[in-house]
Amino acid sequence: MSLLSTELTARCGGACEICGAKTTLTPYIVAPKTGNSVDEQVALCTTCNDQVQSPENADTEHWRCLNDSMWSPVAAVQVLSYRMLNNLSDQQWAQDLLGMMYLDEETQEWADALSSSDVHRDSNGNILQTGDTVVLIKDLDVKGANFTAKEVQQ
Ligand SMILES: [Zn+2]
Repeated sequence: MSLLSTELTARCGGACEICGAKTTLTPYIVAPKTGNSVDEQVALCTTCNDQVQSPENADTEHWRCLNDSMWSPVAAVQVLSYRMLNNLSDQQWAQDLLGMMYLDEETQEWADALSSSDVHRDSNGNILQTGDTVVLIKDLDVKGANFTAKEVQQ
């Protein structure tokens, strides 16, 4: 378990950047960033950290705190909040929050960077890959090819 850098400690003020708990905090690196900069990390309490790692165990009520964290000025916190809201999107309140959330273009790309790779992994080949050949079969137009006009006998 790594410790928060001085910079991250200063930013979060000793409180979990998602739920605000003042407890032991660990830096969470928001993938696919590598965490080289504090801008790519979020200070998380143990509860948030555990559930971010295993979203299938997420305690829905705990994540009501996203209502606040989604408005964080820190892009990494916005990205993490956005992803957790998507994980909870079977909840009406989470859908409502997602509807209100605004991410700038760069932040949105970061937020979507993981979900798009999930789509590829789960697609089972249903999505066309770059380089696939698409063959179009076109019906030939034979209209009129064997048409013979008859003379009308007077
Ligand atoms: Zn927390």
